[in-house]
Amino acid sequence: MNDISPLSHRNSEPEEGVLYIVGTPIGNLNDLSSRAINILENVNLIACEDTRQTKKIMSKFKIKNTLISFNKFNSLKKIPKIVENLKKGGSIALVSDAGMPNICDPGEELVKEARTNNIQTVCIPGPCAAIVALVASGFPASKFVFEGFLPKKKSDREKILNEISSNQKTTILYESPHRINRLLEELKEFCGGSREIQIARELTKKFEEIIGPDIDSVINLFKSREIIGEFTIILKGRVKPANEKFNKIQVKKDLQELIDAGLSLSAASKYLAKKLNLSKNIIYDLY
Ligand code: SAM
Repeated sequence: MNDISPLSHRNSEPEEGVLYIVGTPIGNLNDLSSRAINILENVNLIACEDTRQTKKIMSKFKIKNTLISFNKFNSLKKIPKIVENLKKGGSIALVSDAGMPNICDPGEELVKEARTNNIQTVCIPGPCAAIVALVASGFPASKFVFEGFLPKKKSDREKILNEISSNQKTTILYESPHRINRLLEELKEFCGGSREIQIARELTKKFEEIIGPDIDSVINLFKSREIIGEFTIILKGRVKPANEKFNKIQVKKDLQELIDAGLSLSAASKYLAKKLNLSKNIIYDLY
């Protein structure tokens, strides 16, 4: 660390022609850093996902500044104007509704366009639900895969679920409360109900909790309670069993026979997985 003068750094004014990418709290407003407050107070303009959300933070910290909305619906129209403003020497802060912009939130295209136009970009870091949940999960955290929200299209979704099930690294997923049960059922189908999982709910908020230890237990628990709040899913990587030996040629033959008899690859793999007590993706991969 070269610069160890946090106070002077904290109070430094935003520079001209810089795009500041500012992390904001994911629940607990006290997580807004003093550096972030300073930047939000002193830039020329704040580009935010939803002005109503950002106003809540501004009012808590008594920040007065000009807001413009910048979201997935208007970003194409707004990017050239913001870049023009930066080129003329304006300083602009980019914030999303919660957490780090760009992480499953708007901003990526703006930052890319700024970089293409040789505009300096500075990130003022803040919490990111994925990282907070990962660190609290107790699962290996130095190597991980972040998948964000799974795609909606069935074939794309199954492809990623398949990859996740065989991956030996920790996987991080985002999901909304009304779709989490479906996702858990899918994870069970692809990874088996005994796969270790930690669901981080309402991180940094009053009713924060981390729920585990495996997919089956969480599915059972969620049957008995209302599912509300925000969820980040941390799935432990696949542990390769020491005795993972099976007759691949025979299984492949059985799989082909089931498919020839009219079953889909997915259904045939599922059937054999259950019969042989293997994970579905191992059989799927043989095909
Ligand atoms: N940019 C944000 C970040 O840095 O974490 C993520 C935005 S994404 C649109 C919203 C998703 O993040 C939610 O659906 C949920 O999966 C996760 N999330 C956000 N806040 C959370 C919280 N307080 N606790 C658990 N998960 C959260």
